[in-house]
Amino acid sequence: MMDHEFLRRPCPLCGTNDAREEVRSAQRAEAKTLESLRPFWSGLFKEKLFFSYHRCLACGLLYNPIFFDGPQLANLYSSMAPNMDLVTSDAIAATQRGYFEAAAARAMLDGDYLEIGPDIGYIVGEAAQRGDFEHFWLFEPNRAIHDQLRRATGGRPATVLPDMDDLSAVPDGSVSLAVMVHVLDHLLDPLAALEQIRTKLRADGTLMIVTHDERSLLRRVMGVRWPPFCLQHPELYNPTTIHNLLIRAGYGEVAVNRSYNHFPIDFLARQAAWTIGLKLDRVPLPAFPIALRLGNMLTLASAPAQAAERSSSRPVAV
Ligand SMILES: [Zn+2]
Repeated sequence: MMDHEFLRRPCPLCGTNDAREEVRSAQRAEAKTLESLRPFWSGLFKEKLFFSYHRCLACGLLYNPIFFDGPQLANLYSSMAPNMDLVTSDAIAATQRGYFEAAAARAMLDGDYLEIGPDIGYIVGEAAQRGDFEHFWLFEPNRAIHDQLRRATGGRPATVLPDMDDLSAVPDGSVSLAVMVHVLDHLLDPLAALEQIRTKLRADGTLMIVTHDERSLLRRVMGVRWPPFCLQHPELYNPTTIHNLLIRAGYGEVAVNRSYNHFPIDFLARQAAWTIGLKLDRVPLPAFPIALRLGNMLTLASAPAQAAERSSSRPVAV
């Protein structure tokens, strides 16, 4: 075992150490060296390999008790190629527009906007066009896309910073909409990140989170081949565990919904064919986007003051 190289951690939701193994790859990541995992991190090998996922017996969170530590992660991410455009930008834009619409149905669009990991700014662009935000606070580690991201704000006041862990530049109580799309399940300490974001929310502020759902039909069908079981996800959520994590981080009302992804139909067909071992690379297929629920969930959480105003019900025990 080479696991002495890696971090050993308690459950990132409740802090206990009692967990049972639930999902493992044929080769376990924790039995390999950091150097030998690099090509797997970069996706160079088709073979599925990840750290074993355990279910916390106290709170039910699915997480890796052994994982990369902070410096190892920083190093791995810095060597990662920019996001590969497997899916066309039209399909990505349609998916992200849907996310913004879900947030806009509940959030006020007139305070500051905060996003962790906005990529090139699909949702930022929607927010700039359709909202009346005062200032955009954007935390994106990939400096190569900072200019593109700044352009997405359409000339609105904006601050683009590379460190996702340090939100101290954002005034407390200023944000009416905070956004994290496929970020929370990459974090070693999601509780600390959520607490930090909560202090930035206005009393009527909303946080929108998109993550995978490890209780989804797709996960049950695909089993260990479910793509979110990978080296980039130190924990994976379901509607109950993400709700409980947000309550523990001090949020008020929490609503969890399954969300749609838009995919070009040829991409889906090729992925399905690849899964069963066929190659369709030379077969022409239509490329128009279709909407599917593919095992993602969209969570909206309120700042606690708002929940207290809306109802005087007792706090939810976690
Ligand atoms: Zn736990």
